Parts: sequence; C-alpha cells; structure tokens
Amino acid sequence: MEVDFFQLKRVSEAQRIFLEACPQGPLGYESVALLDATGRVLAEPVRSQEDLPGFDRSTVDGYAVRAADTFGASAALPAYLRIADDIPMGQAANRPLGPGECARIATGGMLPPGADAVVMAEHTDLIAGDEVGIVRPAAPGTNVIRRGEDCPAGGVLVEAGTMLRPQEVALLAHAGVTRVKVARRPRVAILSTGDELVPPDTSPAPGQIRESNSFALCGLVTASGAEPVLLGHAPDEVAAIRAKLQAGLAADVVLISGGSSVGVRDMTAAVLDELGPPGVLVHGVALKPAKPTILAVAGTKPVVGLPGNPVSAHVSFLLFVQPTIRRLLGMAPFQPRWAAIRARLSKNYPSAAGRVDVLRVALVERDGELWAEPVQGKSGLISTLTSANGMVIIEETQEGLTAGQWVDVWPI
Ligand code: AMP
Ligand code: MG
Repeated sequence: MEVDFFQLKRVSEAQRIFLEACPQGPLGYESVALLDATGRVLAEPVRSQEDLPGFDRSTVDGYAVRAADTFGASAALPAYLRIADDIPMGQAANRPLGPGECARIATGGMLPPGADAVVMAEHTDLIAGDEVGIVRPAAPGTNVIRRGEDCPAGGVLVEAGTMLRPQEVALLAHAGVTRVKVARRPRVAILSTGDELVPPDTSPAPGQIRESNSFALCGLVTASGAEPVLLGHAPDEVAAIRAKLQAGLAADVVLISGGSSVGVRDMTAAVLDELGPPGVLVHGVALKPAKPTILAVAGTKPVVGLPGNPVSAHVSFLLFVQPTIRRLLGMAPFQPRWAAIRARLSKNYPSAAGRVDVLRVALVERDGELWAEPVQGKSGLISTLTSANGMVIIEETQEGLTAGQWVDVWPI
C-alpha cells in the first residue's frame, strides 16, 4: 500500500481555511496620480461630480433634427428640412431648432435645444444649398448620447475594490478625476530554497541547476497587483531558512519555494511549524500538480510553502497565493469562470477522482472551433508551461475528461 505522509485537504477546503485566516485588506492606502493608477485597486468608490457628458452629443456626422419632423420619411418620399445652422465642434449650440429645421453636426457635437435625434449624412440627400432631404426616419434619441448617460452627477464611476484597467482610468479622466485613493500594494517576500540551486547569472556545476522560481514568482506577484521583495536563496538547512523567513516577515506575505514535501532534505515544514499562532493550517492538498503545498499564517502574515517543481509552484501560486493577494488588496474573490474560455478537449485525459487535476493546454482553432490540446511532457519541464496558454481544472468529482468534451480554459 502506498503510504501518504500528508494530511491531504481538498483544494476548496484548503483555500477556505487559509483565506479565512488571512487579513481582509486593504492593508493601507495611498494617493496616486491617475497616470500611475492602472493595475492599482481602488480603495473607495469614486462618484461623478457632474453629468457625463454634460450635454446631449451626436454619435455620427449628419443633421440634428426634431425626430417628429422625420416620421414617415423614405427614399421615395424624403422629409425636406431647412439647414438652419452649422454647429461648430467644441462650442455651445444655443440657437433652438424650430419645426422643419435641422442643423449640420459632427460626431461629438452638441445638439441644439429642440433637437432630439441625429440623422446620419448617409441617410440624407442634399437638394439645394440650404435644404436637405431625409430618407430615413429617426426616433427620438437616435444617434444621440444623452446628457448624463455615461454617468449621472452623483453616480458611482468605479466601485471600491476594482483593479483599475485602462478603461476605468479613461472614465475617471473623463470625469475630471486626476488622483485616486488606492490600496497599498501588499509586499510579498520570495525565498527560493534548495542545495542544488545557483543564481541564473552563474554556470551550474554538474548536479546543480539555475534557480528560476523566484523569477516566475516575481512576475506572478507583480501581475497580481502586489510588490515582490526578493529574499534570495537558502540551502536546505533549517537555520538558514529560519533566518531568511524572519527577515521576510517584515513583508506582508512570504513565499518559500522548494522543500515543502516530506523528504529528508525538505525543511520548510519544520521551519513553518515554529510559526504561530495559528501556524501551519494545511500541509498537502489533493491536487496534481502541487500536492506538497504548505499554507501557514504567522500572526496575520500568510506564509506559503510552494513546491520547488516550477510547474507545481506556478499552479500553487494561482490557486492559493493569488486569491490571498486579492483579499489583501480588498478585492472580491476571483471567479475563474469569469475569465474562462470554452473550448473542446482534443484528447481523453485520465484523472483520479478525489483530487483536483490541473491540466496545461494549448488553445488552437481548427475548422472554426476552439480546441484545448493537453500539453505533452513531464511535469518538471518549464517548457510545458511556456507551450501552454491555459489551464483546465478537473474537479475532484470527475474521473478524467473525454475527447471532444467542452471544458473551461483558464488563460495563463
Ligand atoms: P523540491 O520541492 O525542493 O523537492 O524541488 C522539486 C524540484 O524542483 C527539484 O527538481 C528542484 O531542483 C526543483 N526546484 C526547486 N526549487 C527550484 C527553483 N527555485 N527553481 C527551479 N527549480 C527548482
Ligand atoms: Mg529541494
């Protein structure tokens, strides 16, 4: 019989236990200029001080009209309107539109009083110098952005807990907001451990390899909206790891890669056991890859022991560290399905029930359909991650997947 030294927890249970023990962010606040705000998380809702836009605007080049004047218009029987005005861009359109009148207007121009629709230039027929034939009727509101339609005065432009994307930044600029209050970025300390590891700028001797996890983790931390702090490297020795961990606890989160399993040279668990309370909450997750994951909390500081295998470390980060960072930033829990891409699996994939399998896939389009092809190769190969652009999560209840089956692909 296979002996298991772990007290395996289900993924969902491990996530819940760990997240509940982590503090709820934000950990602090700072004010940043809007140009530096992309990727930052809003600490409080931002409301608009004014109607956006502040006036009715045309969405096309054409003629501002009273919609009622165009009812029944057709190519056979155009409605003839007198061009009473030419509305200059960037200026107020003050002259009211009388019955039977229209005004030439460009995209973004202000509708004059009395106008309630715009007819596209393409739907007109210029007759004489100051008369235009409208060949299609316009309903009230056609081709018009109403005053306050983007956001009314007092309305929420962006909610608290939103990680600002370029489009939110644009909306804030549009509303005249030039500084925002954002959550302080959690500082995430990264330590790599292992007697066999050397830094990437050196030549490994036989038996040694260049260390890569701290590079991957640095990028993952940054992409998650946090700030990486590099602690360097420690050999597989309790005292060395303990000293680095103590330094790392000045940050908000500590990640230790390598040595998280139960082998003779695996020291992470012994060091993390000294932490507390609450200390080690989870050691071993029913997950492949990344079974030897350790989830601990020292006081209020989350500390994660990630497996050294680069693929496992990556998976463990996505499932346990990224949700923690979101919480520390004051964001809502991530729903993988929000970002999932539906694709058909190209071949059968076996998986044992009772554990979560994370499958690396490459998305390819064939005959107009999107297919997810499992990436071949041993789990220790970093190239299996670079060949993949998505992951498929096979739940505990599933015994593998069948070729042709639709799956949710989580982009990576
Ligand atoms: P461990 O979790 O320490 O048993 O390591 C599992 C595998 O991952 C071993 O083959 C290690 O050499 C490798 N490994 C551990 N840490 C790193 C690292 N920082 N970068 C690249 N490979 C690593
Ligand atoms: Mg090791």
